[in-house]
Amino acid sequence: MAENKNYVQAASLYVCGTPIGNLDDMSFRAIQVLKEVDLIAAEDTRRTIKLLNHFQIKNRLESYHEHNENEKAEKLLQLLQEGMAIALVSDAGMPGISDPGYKLIKKAIENNIEVIPVPGPTAAISALVVSGLDTSRFVFEGFLERKGKSREEQLNKLKSEERTIILYESPYRVKETLKDLERVLGDRRIALVRELTKVHEEKYYGHISSVLTRIEGKEIKGEIVIVLEGNRSGEEPEPAPWEGLEIEEHIRILLAQGLSKKEAVKRVAEIRGIPKREVYKEAINIDIEK
Ligand code: SAM
Repeated sequence: MAENKNYVQAASLYVCGTPIGNLDDMSFRAIQVLKEVDLIAAEDTRRTIKLLNHFQIKNRLESYHEHNENEKAEKLLQLLQEGMAIALVSDAGMPGISDPGYKLIKKAIENNIEVIPVPGPTAAISALVVSGLDTSRFVFEGFLERKGKSREEQLNKLKSEERTIILYESPYRVKETLKDLERVLGDRRIALVRELTKVHEEKYYGHISSVLTRIEGKEIKGEIVIVLEGNRSGEEPEPAPWEGLEIEEHIRILLAQGLSKKEAVKRVAEIRGIPKREVYKEAINIDIEK
């Protein structure tokens, strides 16, 4: 067993967060814990090896994924009971959040093993905090059912949900999902965010219909989170801050914030969900060399 343990105690399970894209999001404590535990249980050992190599961590790895969860949870529990400190990691983010982990964690608690979080990034919370939607109360739905009656039932249940809703989605299904959400829940405000913390991080804000217009004809790649406003029926809909502004006025505000004319036109088109050429027409009269 490893020596000089400052960060881990024996017979404990460390639920360890890892980056969701940007490796610099790895916490100092996570590195120390992964160095000091006796064993790392990883969703995909090949992916975890890359992470370990990056941080020059050498340690024993065991696979723990959805297909061997039951049998592996039993084996890992035994090792914990023998006194081992074990870290659980998934491919990205926090284990147990749309990732394996739950069964082992439950079993450990039932057997009086201490379960210790080593918090790291998670796509759900990262997306929520940049969504601009109410963060005071929210629900995490993970991935929607893929199709059929169960998907329809799930969507119908979500219809009356008043809290902000967080969904994970694959790039292949995102357009279909937005159409389903608009059809069943209505044209709500959303934030569609992709590739958080990565080079191609991108966010679309607005009503579902306007986001759909903007991504129509585009290939949406990468990892995606949809954050949806909760049911606000009974409340006056909040006007978008730019409503009531002429397009030219809207461009001038962004110019005053330091954007170039090109950037301002692009941003206004995105925000309003209208074609860029329409905004360009209004920008022609603005005299600015930027
Ligand atoms: N355990 C992870 C967490 O804590 O967020 C989630 C794992 S789940 C299998 C993978 C899904 O999380 C992706 O399909 C996507 O919906 C979301 N996701 C993960 N990383 C992301 C990122 N960098 N940007 C946006 N969404 C991400």
